[in-house]
Amino acid sequence: MPRLYAGPRAPGPGPRQPTLKELHHALAKGAIGVVYQPKVACRGTELAGFEVLARWQHPELGAIAPDVFIALAESGGLIDELTEQVLEQALNWFAGLNRAKGALAAVPMPACSLKQLTLSINISARSLGNLALFERLERRCEALGLAPERLIFELTETSAMEDPVASLDILTRLRMKGFQLSLDDFGTGFSSMLQLVRLPFSELKVDKSFVMTAMQSQESRAVIKSVIELGHSLGLQVTAEGIEDRKTLDYLRQSGCDLAQGYFIGRPMAEAALPAWIHDYQAQARENG
Ligand code: C2E
Ligand code: CA
Ligand code: CA
Repeated sequence: MPRLYAGPRAPGPGPRQPTLKELHHALAKGAIGVVYQPKVACRGTELAGFEVLARWQHPELGAIAPDVFIALAESGGLIDELTEQVLEQALNWFAGLNRAKGALAAVPMPACSLKQLTLSINISARSLGNLALFERLERRCEALGLAPERLIFELTETSAMEDPVASLDILTRLRMKGFQLSLDDFGTGFSSMLQLVRLPFSELKVDKSFVMTAMQSQESRAVIKSVIELGHSLGLQVTAEGIEDRKTLDYLRQSGCDLAQGYFIGRPMAEAALPAWIHDYQAQARENG
């Protein structure tokens, strides 16, 4: 019997979300990978370091956005395990740069600049209470011969301010050991001047929502300018992320921003793609004088 036309299909629920069990399985298999996004000096051409970002290629759903699986890991109690796996991969890679055996060994870079590069790592507010995690991290850095000054922990403004008293304790300890601390997504939360001065940060990262709209929005430019002024008056470095074109980079240079990150400079990349990126970046820098 011919099938009757049943009319247009009702819209489906869309692709399903990954489950906590699947994330657990991915962590157990070591299937959470990492990519690195370069961070460069706003003025001049120097490479400053890299930010490590987690990636999950789900066997059935494809690439899962970090915003989705980080939130899942946080709510499901897997964030510390995820952070440890990200750290393990990133620290091994980063320490390899020092020994010039890593992926960048083939790229002509002065040995001194390799030793000054920093590695930025995103830390969830939920991990701040986990002293054991930071102790293991410290021992790992020692074993790999990495100076703590070369590691920058990025905390979002909202998460650092969730419990400023608890944050102050652990952040001060980390800072005293020499690790650097960055306030990520700055401008989106509501930190008071007093909280900002008390928390021992070394960097402010202007949220990309302001940077990406800087060329169209007077308000975004006002926020960027005041974050740069505030950061500098507190003796902090200011990084802008989300730079997608030359005009925005030029604007940030003129505004006195210190460091730059964004697709225009370099997308987050797998380790294997970094030597080619550095080679091209250096060639371009030489061309532009
Ligand atoms: P984030 O720390 O603010 O990282 C910057 C995000 O902006 C990254 O998204 C990066 O790919 C993206 N981005 C960089 N430059 C540009 C640009 O020019 N234009 C645009 N449109 N986007 C740009 P991603 O990788 O999707 O990560 C999203 C967020 O997930 C991160 O935001 C961070 O909060 C979180 N995350 C990623 N990896 C980790 C991790 O290992 N641990 C924790 N706790 N959070 C992580
Ligand atoms: Ca970040
Ligand atoms: Ca950010």
